[in-house]
Amino acid sequence: MLPEEIEISQNISVNIQAFFNSSDYDKVAVLVDENTRLYCLPLVHKAIKPTDIIEIKSGEEQKTLDTCIHIWKELTDNHFERKSLLVNLGGGVIGDMGGFCAATYKRGIDFVNIPTTLLSQVDASVGGKLGVDFLGFKNHIGVFEDPEKVFIDTKFLNTLPARELRSGFAEVIKHCLIADASYWEMISAVDFKDQNWSGIVKHSVDVKKKVVEEDPFEKGLRKILNFGHTIGHAIESYFLQKDEKRLLHGEAIAAGMICETYLSAKYCDLPESSVKNIEAYILKTFGRILISKDDIEEITLLCLQDKKNEKGVINFSLLKDIGNSVFNVGVEQNEIRKVLQLYAQH
Ligand code: NAD
Repeated sequence: MLPEEIEISQNISVNIQAFFNSSDYDKVAVLVDENTRLYCLPLVHKAIKPTDIIEIKSGEEQKTLDTCIHIWKELTDNHFERKSLLVNLGGGVIGDMGGFCAATYKRGIDFVNIPTTLLSQVDASVGGKLGVDFLGFKNHIGVFEDPEKVFIDTKFLNTLPARELRSGFAEVIKHCLIADASYWEMISAVDFKDQNWSGIVKHSVDVKKKVVEEDPFEKGLRKILNFGHTIGHAIESYFLQKDEKRLLHGEAIAAGMICETYLSAKYCDLPESSVKNIEAYILKTFGRILISKDDIEEITLLCLQDKKNEKGVINFSLLKDIGNSVFNVGVEQNEIRKVLQLYAQH
């Protein structure tokens, strides 16, 4: 993805208008859910002038091939052709699924992403990973394809529920921990509610973009973005089956980052002072998830199913120090159990 394809501004209507002035699409559909239709579409409707609005229900459980069929059908009924455009206005669910639908409709039409959650602005909007969940497996069916443009404006965050904002903040923390110690010092001195979002979003996008540009298809360096995600995904999947304790993505990743910080101390000599520093700030921001002894066994087993495993070795991306990360660190199963016990204080 070229740097100019992501435009971050405090007034994206101007950028969006400039984009449409210099392009020649015959039709433009906007994909929204009920929340982004209500809160976000009014901010950009005039600039986009959509010919069609496609609305789907919000939520990860909608990120399926069934919903894609609905979107493809709308595009077909509205006679969308190769010269038409799909604008994805929403969080990561809308961006991943809308992008996937556009990339596969008539072998691919152009699409533009306007991410409206913190998570989608700092993470999902960069890197070209598109897709849907399938048979309970996350992002199981998908493709790599870049949007024509990504327009980011932090004023969308004003209507985002605080819990969703905090969830996105986990990825911001990750970007600092893997790549930028001085930015970590800055954000960890401030409570998450008082952060300067426009500065943070720009910084986080830059970190992710730099990594993805060096390794677009995750052959090597891109794996550092998985810090916190091997154990975090296992925690997320485990609690997904337990409706009463359902976690947001970033909440699970926050716990995963603490566990993987402990692993970093053991395997990569992350200094004890850094461990304490990371643990304290993440716990202060996210609290501690209650994990029982039985949960630990199942979460440990789920780590074995991670996509990043090769030949039975569980590969982690860990920290040598704050701002300095490494990938492909082989970890034994029993060590995963131990760090989960430490996190859960059993
Ligand atoms: P989401 O898309 O489900 O949005 C969260 C909630 O916020 C939804 O209810 C939505 O309707 C609402 N919402 C969105 N914008 C709003 C706004 N401005 N004001 C009020 N409400 C608003 O969740 P998410 O956290 O943005 O994204 C999660 C998805 O992103 C997951 O499916 C995950 O797999 C994917 N993801 C993809 C990548 C990637 O590289 N492609 C990276 C990280 C995550």
